[in-house]
Amino acid sequence: MLRQLRPRSAFKQPSRLIAAWERSYSIQAESASTVKLQDIDPAKVSVTKTTTPKELVPQNELVFGRSFTDHMLSLEWTASEGWLPARITPYQNLSLDPASCVFHYAFECFEGMKAYKDKQGKVRLFRPTKNMARMNKSSARIALPTFDGAAMIQLIAQFAAMEERFISSTRGYSLYLRPTMIGTQRTLGVGPPGSALLYVIASPVGPYYPTGFKAVSLEATDYAVRAWPGGVGDKKLGANYAPCILPQLEAAKRGFHQNLWLFGEEEFVTEVGTMNMFVALKNKQGQKELVTAPLDGTILEGVTRDSILSLARERLAPEGWIISERKYTMPELAEAAKEGRLLEAFGAGTAAVVSPVRNISWKGNLVECGLRPDQEAGEITRKMLGWIEAIQYGDEEHEWSYVVPQ
Ligand SMILES: *Cc1c(COP(=O)(O)O)cnc(C)c1O
Repeated sequence: MLRQLRPRSAFKQPSRLIAAWERSYSIQAESASTVKLQDIDPAKVSVTKTTTPKELVPQNELVFGRSFTDHMLSLEWTASEGWLPARITPYQNLSLDPASCVFHYAFECFEGMKAYKDKQGKVRLFRPTKNMARMNKSSARIALPTFDGAAMIQLIAQFAAMEERFISSTRGYSLYLRPTMIGTQRTLGVGPPGSALLYVIASPVGPYYPTGFKAVSLEATDYAVRAWPGGVGDKKLGANYAPCILPQLEAAKRGFHQNLWLFGEEEFVTEVGTMNMFVALKNKQGQKELVTAPLDGTILEGVTRDSILSLARERLAPEGWIISERKYTMPELAEAAKEGRLLEAFGAGTAAVVSPVRNISWKGNLVECGLRPDQEAGEITRKMLGWIEAIQYGDEEHEWSYVVPQ
C-alpha cells in the first residue's frame, strides 16, 4: 500500500537509506576499532607529594586496615575517553555526587594484595598479575571497565615504593594494598556506568598471629549461603561481603571465631569466612590427601589457594600426598574425624596466608579437625606458611615475587 503511494524515484530511497546507514555503521565500527580508547599509560602518572607526612603507627599497635599511608593512587575512566592519566596524591577524601551509581547499585569491586620488604630493603609484590587478572574479571562482570594489568602493576609498584617507609622487613609485617574500582556515573538509572574511578590505598599491617598460630573454632552456617552456581561468589565484588557479617556475628555470639559456608543439601564445604578452606585427611585407603573445593563458580579464586595447590603439587605430592580440587561435604569430614582420619584443616587468604582450624560446630556436634589440645597448627599448615613467606619476603628467589624497581 505504502509503496503504491510513492513516486517511482522514491523506490530507491530505502536502499539509499540502508547504504547511508551501513556507511555510518561501518565508520562507527571502524572508529571503535581504530580509535582505541586510552588504556592505562604508567608513563603519564603525575605525582603530588604530601607536605604533612604521617607519624608511623608503632609496629605493635597496628590494626588491620585502620591506618593508611601518606598517598593514594587514582585513575579516572570515562566511556568516551578510556583511562585518564594516573595520579598519585596525598591520601584524601573522595568527593562524589550522592547519585553516583556505586551508592545505589553496588558498582564496586576490589582486590587485596600485599607489598613486602626483603632483607636488602627491596619492596616486593606477590603474584600481582593474579590480582590484576581477577580484578578485571570482577569489574567486567559488573559492567565496569577493564584495564591493562601489567600497566597497573607498574603504577602500584611505583606507589608502593613511595610508601616504602611504612613497610617493615620484620617477618609478618607488610603493606596491605587495596585496589578498588567504583562506578561514579551520576544517575539513578540502572545501566552500565559511563564513568569509573580506580584507586589504590595502602595500610601497614602486622602479623595475623603476633604470638604464633592460634587455631580457630568455626560454626558451620546452615541457614544462609554465601554463593551459588551461576552467581557472583567467585568475584571480589563489595556486594558479596556485607551480607556475610550477620552470620559471622551469629557465630561469634555462640563463641565461634568464624563461620564456615556450606552449600546445598549435601552440605558441601565451600569457604571459611572470607578465606578458602583446605583439609588434610587420610582417605579410606590410607592415603594422605590435601583437599580444597573446586572453582565451580561458588569459590573465590584465591591467589593463596592457587599458591598452596601449586606448592603442594611440587613439594607434597612427591611424598605421596594426593592433591585434590574436589567437592567434599560436612558428613565426609565428620566421618573422617570420627575415624581419626582428619589430620588438619586451615583457611587460606592474603591476610593470614593460612589460618588453622581447631574444630567445626555442625548440627550440635563439634567436629575435631585433628589438632591435639596443646597444638595450634598442623604440619601442613606450618609448612605452607614457611614456604609462602620465604617467597614473599624474598628469602627464596621465585618467579612469584615481583621486585619493585627502585
Ligand atoms: C579474597 C578472598 C579469598 C582469598 O583470596 P586471596 O587472593 O588468597 O587473598 C578467599 N575467599 C574469599 C571469599 C575472598 O574474598
